[in-house]
Amino acid sequence: MQTNRMTLSLLEWYNREKRILPFRNIDNPYKIWLSEIMLQQTQVDTMIPYFNRWIKKYPTLQSVANEDQEKLLKMWEGLGYYSRCRNFHKAIKIVFNQYSGIVPNNWTDFRALPGVGDYTAAAVLSIAYHQPYPVIDGNVKRVMARLLGLKNLTKRNMSRMNRYLNEHISKDFPGDFNQGMMELGAGICSPKNPDCGKCPVSNFCKGFLIGSPESYPKYIKKEKTPHYEIVAGIIWRDDKFYIQKRGEKGMLAGLWEFPGGKVEKGETLEEALQREIKEECGALPKVLKKIGTIKHAYTHFSITFHGYHCEENGTPLQNKEFSNWIRPDQIDDFPFPKANHKLFSLLEEQGWYV
Ligand code: SF4
Repeated sequence: MQTNRMTLSLLEWYNREKRILPFRNIDNPYKIWLSEIMLQQTQVDTMIPYFNRWIKKYPTLQSVANEDQEKLLKMWEGLGYYSRCRNFHKAIKIVFNQYSGIVPNNWTDFRALPGVGDYTAAAVLSIAYHQPYPVIDGNVKRVMARLLGLKNLTKRNMSRMNRYLNEHISKDFPGDFNQGMMELGAGICSPKNPDCGKCPVSNFCKGFLIGSPESYPKYIKKEKTPHYEIVAGIIWRDDKFYIQKRGEKGMLAGLWEFPGGKVEKGETLEEALQREIKEECGALPKVLKKIGTIKHAYTHFSITFHGYHCEENGTPLQNKEFSNWIRPDQIDDFPFPKANHKLFSLLEEQGWYV
């Protein structure tokens, strides 16, 4: 029967060709859950050192539940999408307090935890608890569009993919089936040049049989992302500089940063810097020297980031609840966004002090 043949081909191939990864061949739900959260929007090679460091420091769910959010954010620093880390922490605390430290093995309870969407729920329940919930990430969508010959990812076509996956997922090895589909999409069934000659499911693939697999699904041109000019000041008081913590909501929440912000139309960089620091810290600084310019890209926008050495100018900066004065050798005690680390690299080259 075709259903079984496709599933068997995929499972055989996966068991033969799967990459050896630190979160494979385990069934610890906490570790599998962490790996799935870390892998969202992140390449496997980038994520592995983070995963290994994290598990070394926090080998159990309890060790995460008992840790401060700021220390966890420091471990996550550089991986981006910090809400993943904050939500994971919240969810682990709930598991610890409400479920006696055992990750729920049913869809309703697990899916209701902070940061757990359909994808994470299906991945964890299938891999850790062997339940037949198919995962659909970007790679699986592409494989499915080709298998079924679907040009457009409409709601109706998404339902067809779902139906197909529910019919084909292995009831005995649902985790391997899901990981096989994802691995196929990540490696062989690539967006531009699918290597159909090596594909275990080519016999069942409409795109391949029609002769133009790469035309599925239809490529949608991405809109150009906006670009912003950002200024930030390292404001010195003797041998320490000022940092402030971002709020608990929104992008980069909970991380530390220098005061600054977007340059408005018609402003020079230094005018913008003075305005932003006055708004955020209640005092105009003295701008001493430009440190340099770095570029950084986020998913939905990019920035050019201009850093300046500044110092207080008669009026001290207001002390806010979440602000601090630190020395350069203390930067490792606080989680900072990646763009700030690029600035730190410039300062390491030039010398920190003006
Ligand atoms: Fe992708 Fe080619 Fe395999 Fe079809 S046959 S799933 S297009 S790699």
